[in-house]
Amino acid sequence: MATIRMIDIAVNLTDSMFKGIYNGKQQHIADISTVLSRAWSAGVDRIIVTGGSLKESKEALAIAETDARLFCTVGVHPTRCNEFDESGDPETHFQALLSLAKEGMDKGKVVAIGECGLDYDRLQFCPADVQKKYFEKQFELAHMMKLPMFLHMRAASEDFCDILQRNEDRFTGGVAHSFTGSAEDRDRLLSFSNLYIGLNGCSLKTSENLDVVKDIPVERLMIETDSPYCEIKNTHAGSKLVKSSWPSKKKEKYDQDSIVKGRNEPCLVRQVLEVVAGCKSISDVDSLSKTIYHNTCRVFFPHDLDSAADALLDGGQATSN
Ligand SMILES: [Zn+2]
Repeated sequence: MATIRMIDIAVNLTDSMFKGIYNGKQQHIADISTVLSRAWSAGVDRIIVTGGSLKESKEALAIAETDARLFCTVGVHPTRCNEFDESGDPETHFQALLSLAKEGMDKGKVVAIGECGLDYDRLQFCPADVQKKYFEKQFELAHMMKLPMFLHMRAASEDFCDILQRNEDRFTGGVAHSFTGSAEDRDRLLSFSNLYIGLNGCSLKTSENLDVVKDIPVERLMIETDSPYCEIKNTHAGSKLVKSSWPSKKKEKYDQDSIVKGRNEPCLVRQVLEVVAGCKSISDVDSLSKTIYHNTCRVFFPHDLDSAADALLDGGQATSN
């Protein structure tokens, strides 16, 4: 029987919601292990835990060490780039990131530098010039570690692509995750041959979003949840293409056997796959999952590329029209 195999490339397992805390208030028990077992049962077989600051990257690594199927990133999110200057010594801060990345790589856990990039929708957290300076600085980290990059880009595609272009020789590949841009943004990103596009619920909200997604070649796609954020809501354009669902309950009525309403979690990456298949009119979801799995291994798990290639041969290549 055919089986779906997926890698959720973006899970914020360091978020307090996975400790049962919402807006500072404890609503239920910490439940990462429950969330993970639901993901493994749904066909997820690896997860990349995202780190968005030095502190969070340390936590992400500690979480990744608890299960052989968990991996993580080390880096500083565009909205957190003030932390370099606020540390009092940006160079020491950079060195701390570098040694954490080294430690995590030695443990076989760190698979990318990130998340880093530019976010002009949230300049209130960090001004553009600081974002640009430390986005560029993190290419140095990727280059020194020979790691791909896990990138975040919001409303900044021109500056983002300029910086990428300038650093092309230090960029071995990566993903622009949580893509919500226009057709023009998509084509700009796709012009970098070793850059992939990561899709989640936020990428599939409107019919315009679906039109943009439709023309991303399957060979350049990755899927993610960005849990606990970016779930596919009933009101979203993509939701009519969802096929799988899980029982859900409000956080106040927490039950281990149900997902929490309003909290995204990695098993739901399956729905992202289904919506992407639906909007690209691909009927063979199985084979689409294998192509996307292969893409993800190519960038983040190159040592396992052979097993991903075998899976691809078994399932045949997904095609889109
Ligand atoms: Zn992001």
